[in-house]
Amino acid sequence: MAAIKKIVIVMDATNNTTDFHWSALEVQMRAYAHEAHVPIIVDEGLALLEQIIRIQRPSKILEIGTAIGFSAIRMHQVCNSQIYTIERNQDMICLAKKNIQASGFAAQIHLIEQDALEAFDSVKNKKFDLIFIDAAKAQYTKFFEIYTPLLTNRGIVITDNMSFHGLLDPKEYENQSRSVKGLIRKLLSYRKFLLDHDNYDTTIFEIGDGIAVSVKKDEYANHK
Ligand code: SAH
Ligand code: MG
Repeated sequence: MAAIKKIVIVMDATNNTTDFHWSALEVQMRAYAHEAHVPIIVDEGLALLEQIIRIQRPSKILEIGTAIGFSAIRMHQVCNSQIYTIERNQDMICLAKKNIQASGFAAQIHLIEQDALEAFDSVKNKKFDLIFIDAAKAQYTKFFEIYTPLLTNRGIVITDNMSFHGLLDPKEYENQSRSVKGLIRKLLSYRKFLLDHDNYDTTIFEIGDGIAVSVKKDEYANHK
């Protein structure tokens, strides 16, 4: 099957995506995600993620939360990084396998079929330049703590859905169910955890659904 051609996203000054050139596979994946309500990364967030990859040129990327393989394929295409991506849901695994195969990048995108809370042993022998956290929001702090020991010096952790579809607005809180309130509190505590972390400099961009960029401090620099 044909590999995906180069994909270009042009952003205008208001950050609206204005022009797309998508391969047939990408059109298919986007349509499926839309129909089946699979929360693939939104275009503005993806554009930021891809620019960071272009700047950093990571040789290995760890993704937590593959879903149908959309972001894994896009991240690989930026600069041929090896992608290790973890997914626990059987239906998603099945679709991701098909899509990764169809993309032509099955040798570079490694799907780990496990719960990310239990998958450390599957990747512990590797070092990652970039970790993309995009799975269950209640577990973000745990994912960060489990996998950042595998980050290279000055590695980067990117976390998606930091805005939780606008639900972090205090005005929204009282209208939510107990379980959503629980998630909101977990996400707020993850935000604080990142911003207060001694070993990382974090900026949270209100782009897409909110993207946190956490850069590991240089171990050799003199930080207070
Ligand atoms: N990164 C994808 C979207 C991921 S959606 C993209 O942008 O294209 C989140 C996915 O994380 C879902 O498929 C869900 O099944 C998976 N997930 C949630 N918690 C997980 C966990 N603990 N371990 C592995 N996968 C998990
Ligand atoms: Mg996401």
